[in-house]
Amino acid sequence: MFRALAAWIVALCLAASPAMAEEYFVETQAEYEQVAGSVVAGDTIILADGEWRDFEIVLQGQGREEAPITLTAETMGGVILTGQSNLRIGGSHLVVSGLVFRDGHSPTGEVIAFRVDSETLAFNSRVTQVVIDHFSKPDRFDSDYWVALYGRNNRFDHNHLVGKTNAGVTLAVRLNTEDSRENNHRIDHNYFGPRPNLGSNGGETLRIGTSHFAEFNSNTIVENNIFDRCNGEVEIISVKAGGNLVRGNLFLESRGALTLRHGDGNVVERNVFLGNGVDHTGGIRVINRRQIVRENYMEGLRGDGFASALTVMNGVPNSPANRYVEVQFAEIENNSIHDSDRITFGAGADAERSVAPSDSTFGNNLLAGRAGARFVEVDAPVDGIRFAGNALLAGEAAPELSFAKPADTRLERGANGLLYPVDPALAAVGAPRDLRVLALDEVGVDWYPKPAPEAAFGQSEMRAVPLSSAALIAAIGDTGESDTLLLAPGTYVIDRTIPVERMVSLTGSSNGATIIEFARPTLFELRENGALALHNLVIDGSQAPDSSANAVIRTASVPIRGNLRIALGHVLVRNLDINRDFDVIAFGPSTLADRVDIRNSTFENISGSVVSAIAEADDQGRYNVEYLDISGSTFRNVRGPVAEVYRGGRDESTFGPHILISGSTLEAVGAGAGASLELHGTQRTRILGNHFLGSAPVAITHTVGTPRTVVADNRFQNTPAPAIVERECACAPRVEMRDNSFDGEAGE
Ligand code: CA
Repeated sequence: MFRALAAWIVALCLAASPAMAEEYFVETQAEYEQVAGSVVAGDTIILADGEWRDFEIVLQGQGREEAPITLTAETMGGVILTGQSNLRIGGSHLVVSGLVFRDGHSPTGEVIAFRVDSETLAFNSRVTQVVIDHFSKPDRFDSDYWVALYGRNNRFDHNHLVGKTNAGVTLAVRLNTEDSRENNHRIDHNYFGPRPNLGSNGGETLRIGTSHFAEFNSNTIVENNIFDRCNGEVEIISVKAGGNLVRGNLFLESRGALTLRHGDGNVVERNVFLGNGVDHTGGIRVINRRQIVRENYMEGLRGDGFASALTVMNGVPNSPANRYVEVQFAEIENNSIHDSDRITFGAGADAERSVAPSDSTFGNNLLAGRAGARFVEVDAPVDGIRFAGNALLAGEAAPELSFAKPADTRLERGANGLLYPVDPALAAVGAPRDLRVLALDEVGVDWYPKPAPEAAFGQSEMRAVPLSSAALIAAIGDTGESDTLLLAPGTYVIDRTIPVERMVSLTGSSNGATIIEFARPTLFELRENGALALHNLVIDGSQAPDSSANAVIRTASVPIRGNLRIALGHVLVRNLDINRDFDVIAFGPSTLADRVDIRNSTFENISGSVVSAIAEADDQGRYNVEYLDISGSTFRNVRGPVAEVYRGGRDESTFGPHILISGSTLEAVGAGAGASLELHGTQRTRILGNHFLGSAPVAITHTVGTPRTVVADNRFQNTPAPAIVERECACAPRVEMRDNSFDGEAGE
């Protein structure tokens, strides 16, 4: 009787214990330290709304499933962590929610870590409804993870991660100790928002494992997340461990591919990839054994090579786990691919990657490519793949493949907005009708806005600027005002370097009557968030001092996190010749322009280069410009090259640089450099329909990757033929040369 009573009292106390849970409201870091040292299961710490600067939060403790230890905000989104801040959690049954990290960066290698230190990992813990917004280290190549998952049975859900501009994976699942393997983590309903092109390796949005631990299973679930414009590098998701499930995610206009890089036995199913025709948007890349890729949907993808809608790689014979394990026992079934550029079997086949896929099936897939180009490409034998039940509705397949071509190729959009065949005979082919396409409001948080489409130049109203240099400088610096400034006829004489820290368009009068002269070595300095468009202007360098390294437009000498944009249209640049190194546009180290566009412009008497993008000189695969597009322009008496672009090293994680020079005249260009265009390591180069006159040769050096160079329809007059050099490939120069004409004594 007494023992029964004692047990009853103990039970009563246990039942009562949740009522004893404390709720702590803290307003300072000191209060937090005091409280955090004593929290027990069931306790809640509430951070007061407001800015918390330089706050390195550590939450450690042992909660229980029914009584977690909770850290949250007074109101969701009301707590803003700025400066040098981060969050580390360790123990079990911890829950963190409602925080916003912005206006700063982590002082360590992680913004959110599911461990306090290497001994204290988190288990059965959850981070939910947290925002990390542009919380990037200032130096693009100073690497960190925004989120690192360690331990087991953790959940990361309904978070909002936008604008990582420095190197390092946005979210990494780490398997570096045994306690972190076979982890059953769940990563779901997150909004992975725009991640700009890093222009280097290390721009993955999500990575599971690493090549060091490639033989271990992670058993992580990644489901119902949206990846919106995740453009960091060629791998959007890099799976480097086995046993993972990637299901029901939506990839929007994201350059690159979901890559099964290492590890066996992963399942990728019911994901939707919508490229909307954006360059290099890809789908799924398969490497290793026992991978299942089924019931996925792809539409509007423009990637090829390793970023094809589907890429099945060749492997290395007896490959170590961390190289390229052959594809074996792959099941690729019931996927739909519409309006996409490429499917590649045996991708990457070369002397090392010589093992073709084997014991694999490719069945019941619905394949609809784009007309014209080759849609299904074969780079290695495909006899190890069993093809059955596939239907090819549009696009050409390699002759080794014989897909059924149904007579009725009509498609209709289902209630989910996706394309399905009308023909009932195709009902079992392709992705299922019940696929769900996630909506933006199903992921992330509902109290923090998701980013709008990127703004374009000239979308705002014009504002007139009187003929006064002070007025012009003030208008460019005035962030509260319209970004399109209409300049008056006459000459503006600028006596200082003008910083550009936002999107600015300057437009002069169309008859060439608006002239800008400048009395400093640099006219415009691009800084963080800078984007500059110039139209209908004459820029004259004759008042500039004789300084070293003059330029009309230059990047700031400090690293710039975000990517820049420059556009010139109907601009005349002249008299940059006070010394021997006066450039029009010059990039410094640790800067990357998404685009430089020069159209219908004229450049005369320039002692340096027109576009100098050679500052990433340390051969790490980095470069200064992703797309350089010059058309309809005239270059006369330019000592340096019109464009000098350098991408060195052996890295293959990027798509660029892309160079297009078309419909332009280059007369007396490049004598000081020995080249009229000097392109090193560019990946896409098109030189089309130009007139070279008394100029130095075009000089192109191919390095790694699969560079594609076309030189066509040009007239080379008194100009040597282009010189194409292969640096890494023991092959003839990979260039499509056609319909060029050569005349004059220097031609051939
Ligand atoms: Ca990578």
